[in-house]
Amino acid sequence: MSLEQNVKDFLRNIDNNKNLNAFNFIFEESIEQAKLIEEKIKAGTAGKAAGLVVAIKDNIAIKDKPLTCSSKILNNFNSIYNADVVERLINEDAIIIGKTNCDEFAMGSSNENSAFGIVKNPYDETRVPGGSSGGSAVAVAANLCDAALGSDTGGSIRQPASFCGVFGLKPTYGRVSRYGLTAFASSFDSIGPLTKNIEDLALVLSIISGWDEKDSTSQNIPVQDYIENINHKSKLRIGIPKEYFGEGLNDEIRTVINEQINFLIGKDFEIVDISLPHTEYSIATYYILTTAESSSNLARYDGVRYGYRSKNSKNLSNMYMNTRSEGFGAEVKRRIMLGTYVLSAGYYDAYYRKAQKVRRLLKQDFDNAFEKVDLILTPTTPTTAFKIGEKTSEPLEMYLNDIYTTSANLTGIPALSIPIGFDKNGLPIGMQLMSAQLNEQVLLETAYQINKQNKN
Ligand code: GLN
Repeated sequence: MSLEQNVKDFLRNIDNNKNLNAFNFIFEESIEQAKLIEEKIKAGTAGKAAGLVVAIKDNIAIKDKPLTCSSKILNNFNSIYNADVVERLINEDAIIIGKTNCDEFAMGSSNENSAFGIVKNPYDETRVPGGSSGGSAVAVAANLCDAALGSDTGGSIRQPASFCGVFGLKPTYGRVSRYGLTAFASSFDSIGPLTKNIEDLALVLSIISGWDEKDSTSQNIPVQDYIENINHKSKLRIGIPKEYFGEGLNDEIRTVINEQINFLIGKDFEIVDISLPHTEYSIATYYILTTAESSSNLARYDGVRYGYRSKNSKNLSNMYMNTRSEGFGAEVKRRIMLGTYVLSAGYYDAYYRKAQKVRRLLKQDFDNAFEKVDLILTPTTPTTAFKIGEKTSEPLEMYLNDIYTTSANLTGIPALSIPIGFDKNGLPIGMQLMSAQLNEQVLLETAYQINKQNKN
């Protein structure tokens, strides 16, 4: 099939699946791009991703395209430059088909916090796709593109990947440039791929990884050859942390994960029981530190430089207030208020400073564990996809959905969610693999082995 036809087929799928609401914007010019790339393939000059059709989460900048973060406050805002990841994909001849829906400013676990409306899970449209990269997960799961980029501050790639039955990777902090990613919590944010198979994930990761002088936290360390080594079989030790298999984990997920562990034992992986003793503090630490960082990052949206501006205000400070009151949604306001509170003079020591110390202890837990094991295996989520509306009135319930995913962001390590089966309602189940910083390679090769087995 020609690249042009392939893009047209995806555009038709997008049109037929409008009810899923996965995309905020579609780029029809992707058809023209497909034609140009076909010419390059004929001439033998095409890049590594020639013809790969990619969707980009709407909090990542594409030059001259809208960048809304699914927020009213960025209504009509267009980016004037490409994110580094976008630049790298275009340089390798990927085709960008559109921008995907997400929770407003990537704050959420269900994609219900979007000014563009909720996104639906293709396995059951009465359920959420997960969030905040819900549109990206759905675009991949419903075959509306080959691969998508998401962002992950506390699980926003892995949790929707798990709920929608696709692969999703949060790379090591600093492995992929954040230049052009709208900041939520800058010391946690990572961009990463969501794909239908592990080979595509390795390809996209190898393209978007690497040093970028425009991101001071980007790591200037050579990128592993993820594609070449995917079939590599190292003798790996896998740690099973008891804290991730306690109360609250759904029984069907537990059973399916145990089956995977038994398979790995049969495959000569060494399984080791481990402990990550500070796990119970991860959610609280995450929500103190990320709200603090976001209250500062979101201060720039005041109606002066970006997007939406409230009309008919009496004076400047009134204009700021009205713009922010009208432009931000409820969850974003909740985070800004929480973050302002934990940073306030009277509470800084009790909350922000203490949380920084606990972050250090969590990092120590993982450093200790990675002296004994190469990988850590856990569920991605405590439950499968929940019903739309089920948790919207209980923010704490919603936050608890991130129980297994936030640690990787608190500690900067890479983490991959792999689809491993379905529950009795036919909803996808995901399993998470984590490794030491910059060792994405072992995640990919283990996932490759597991996936080969699950396909047979
Ligand atoms: N669900 C988490 C939150 O609401 C994670 C978000 C993310 O990773 N962007 O903060």
